[in-house]
Amino acid sequence: MSLSPDVLRSLERVVGADRVSTRETHRLIYSVDSYWLPQMWLDRGERMPQPDAVVFPASVAEISGVLALAHAHRIPVVPWGGGSGTQGGALPIHHGIVVDVKRLNRILEINERSLYVTAQAGVNGTELEWALNERGLTLPHYPASANCATLGGYLAPRGSGTISTKYGKAEDLVMSLEAVLPDGRVIRTPPVPNHASGPDFMRLFLGSEGTFGIITEATMRVTKLPEVRLFRAILFKDVATGLEAGRRMMVDRLDPLVIRMYDPHSTASLVKRVLGYELSGAYMIVGFDGWREIAAAQEARAMAICDELGGRDLGREPGERWWNHRYDFYYPPLSLHLPAMYGTVETVATFDRIEAIYHAKKAAIEEGFGHLGVEYIAHFSHWFPWGASLYDRFVLRAAPADPREARALHDRLWDAAVETSLRHGGMINEHHGVGLKLSRFMRAQYGAAWPLLEAIKQTIDPHGIMNPGKVGFEERPS
Ligand SMILES: Cc1cc2nc3c(=O)[nH]c(=O)nc-3n(C[C@H](O)[C@H](O)[C@H](O)COP(=O)(O)OP(=O)(O)OC[C@H]3O[C@@H](n4cnc5c(N)ncnc54)[C@H](O)[C@@H]3O)c2cc1C
Repeated sequence: MSLSPDVLRSLERVVGADRVSTRETHRLIYSVDSYWLPQMWLDRGERMPQPDAVVFPASVAEISGVLALAHAHRIPVVPWGGGSGTQGGALPIHHGIVVDVKRLNRILEINERSLYVTAQAGVNGTELEWALNERGLTLPHYPASANCATLGGYLAPRGSGTISTKYGKAEDLVMSLEAVLPDGRVIRTPPVPNHASGPDFMRLFLGSEGTFGIITEATMRVTKLPEVRLFRAILFKDVATGLEAGRRMMVDRLDPLVIRMYDPHSTASLVKRVLGYELSGAYMIVGFDGWREIAAAQEARAMAICDELGGRDLGREPGERWWNHRYDFYYPPLSLHLPAMYGTVETVATFDRIEAIYHAKKAAIEEGFGHLGVEYIAHFSHWFPWGASLYDRFVLRAAPADPREARALHDRLWDAAVETSLRHGGMINEHHGVGLKLSRFMRAQYGAAWPLLEAIKQTIDPHGIMNPGKVGFEERPS
């Protein structure tokens, strides 16, 4: 424990004595998020760096007080929402103070005329959704982690939900933000996102993952719950034909709610395990929502495209079954879990590149690591009018027992996967964020633009106290 008694007393004055914890249990809990590596590390009896203290503020003023104190004393600060992030973004690798924002959980306004909700950043995703559903509304950001994630955690790493293909990523739904800067100043971005009044600095906070400050409040666009949601399953002979069908639906602007296409290996393994269908080929789900007659017309057009490309219509039931079980893929007993080693090495690219990226990554993992028992599974999950995301994973059912050996292999797999994405024109990531895990690839991703991002970080956070070592920024406070 390296915070001085004076600093601890000052923290207690800001948030209350019972809201500052240096207890061993808290320090242990807040040393592991949903990143595979620290979980494996702990599982093998090792320890991760722990925070010196965890604080539980209840207001923006308290957060401001905590950051002002940390700024004055050069203490690292790590924002913590639900801890469901998979990139190690919330790990206190340089100790310091973890700020758990979950007590900032009030829904401040649901505006039914202009269709927006304003809520504090620590509100739980599902609780926010329940409140909106009572008014016939929805926040159309449906991540599989909604039960354990927070609104701030949706935005900080630029997440994508199941229906992002129609409604956009979390970052597309946000209208304005309130944030506390590293020195404790509280700022608000303009009230609407689309204007011509200077650069869009709100976007700086989207993807900053706690390195520029703490998001304390967000106004999000909401939408009316649809009259219908229609789902359909189609089987394609291979990835290439399925990709072409999805591409045409997107460039023809059919506005699908979701297109999800599993590669043949995922179809034979994952789809069989979770949905119980034994199929060979590429299994695709297509969904439409909105007014009944419009959704039906869009679906009919989409099915005509699938038919032209030789897709076999499996009907509505398997499509609806997928929708009803869409989150089961990510939770025990059906999800991947320890002692297996796995990594979601997802990426996004334009239509002219994404298929080549899939084949290159599959080859890199299977040819480079197949002899060790590593498998490669993939599906295409979030689509844009210009391209699609490839949600792909390496899986090793029995990871090496020695934690150092496991870690070295894990890092080599990540290097192989991400470097292949970058080489073929893909991004290092589409929606999980950078965190600690992908920090080392940021220079390669941004090239000559990287020093500009570093300069922005330096201006906003001159002492480097905010979430040091993440998103590619400087290792420790100075
Ligand atoms: C089972 C499972 C399923 C998942 N499914 C999806 C999915 O479908 N789509 C998706 O996008 N992601 C998914 N994720 C990843 C993760 O849940 C999301 O990124 C989620 O939105 C993180 O929210 P959180 O509140 O748990 O954030 P945390 O894990 O607490 O934090 C994530 C990062 O954001 C920072 N942060 C958190 N709150 C704030 C704040 N208020 N201000 C500034 N920085 C902050 C943290 O410091 C950290 O860097 C999944 C994860 C799991 C475990």
